[in-house]
Amino acid sequence: MARILDGKAIAKQVKDELRQRVSQLRETGLVPKLVVVLVGDDAASASYVRSKSRAAQDVGIDAEVIQMPANIAEDELIRALERLNEDNTVHAVLVQLPLPAHLDTDRILMHVHPAKDVDGFHPVNIGRYATGTPLLWPCTTAGILEILERSEIPIAGRTAVIVGRSRIVGWPTAQLLLAHNATVIQCHRQTVNLREYTRQADILVAAAGQPSLIGPDDVKVGATVIDVGINRVGGHLVGDVDFAAVEEKAGAITPVPGGVGPLTVAMLMKNTVHLAEIHQREKEGFR
Ligand code: NAD
Repeated sequence: MARILDGKAIAKQVKDELRQRVSQLRETGLVPKLVVVLVGDDAASASYVRSKSRAAQDVGIDAEVIQMPANIAEDELIRALERLNEDNTVHAVLVQLPLPAHLDTDRILMHVHPAKDVDGFHPVNIGRYATGTPLLWPCTTAGILEILERSEIPIAGRTAVIVGRSRIVGWPTAQLLLAHNATVIQCHRQTVNLREYTRQADILVAAAGQPSLIGPDDVKVGATVIDVGINRVGGHLVGDVDFAAVEEKAGAITPVPGGVGPLTVAMLMKNTVHLAEIHQREKEGFR
């Protein structure tokens, strides 16, 4: 039976530590501030934004949600982001994805200043982590590292297989595990004979958005299985991994819900505090 990697408990540890760092910042007169830009009225996005606001409040971060109409013009949204870039009281800016179809997501994300890009999606920040000088890592990827490290699961020298190569999760996660000296195999929709690769994994990250993609025959005995997927099936949330069957074979496994999800939110807070601390250090440097 696999060890269950309890994301909620790990996220709580992270948030407890952050509260300390936030109160130190507040003592210097700086209140870390995160602004979430929410365009349109997608119910799932609105619910994610609410949980981000709650988590911010929980650790003492000032969170503001700017709600924009679904039909907002691209240039108007860009002007709003530029105002946030210039606002010295704002340390972190997040554009909630997905954006409505008429908006060019790549163009919009280019207008979040790299020093406030709390999601790590700006090309400058992708370039930084791809060249070994990360400012920060995207939240879900950073959360996966937090789970592995706090659960004392070694990465260096292990074979890590990532199923999925999105800019949001799969690709940065492969880069992060490579940076931590894993041997990395990246799989995607066009991978032929997926199982041939997943069965080699000491660390298997499933980030495809396909319920039951990973079953017991896809997993090596004793592997660590990190299930990033969030899929709604018959009114329930499930991951990409057939949890009940894979639990019998894996060495460690994250549940859905209660695994990677809580860490993604906690790492958004950690990235916000990190950006606020850098802001503060730079301000002190100029005195
Ligand atoms: P995406 O659709 O952008 O990317 C999916 C990736 O999986 C693609 O690279 C695709 O090639 C690959 N893929 C799809 N089907 C495959 C298959 N059958 N075999 C091999 N590869 C396959 O999705 P995303 O934004 O990367 O999100 C992936 C999943 O993770 C979704 O379920 C999403 O809801 C979830 N997610 C969870 C969190 C969290 O905090 N837990 C955060 C972000 C995303």
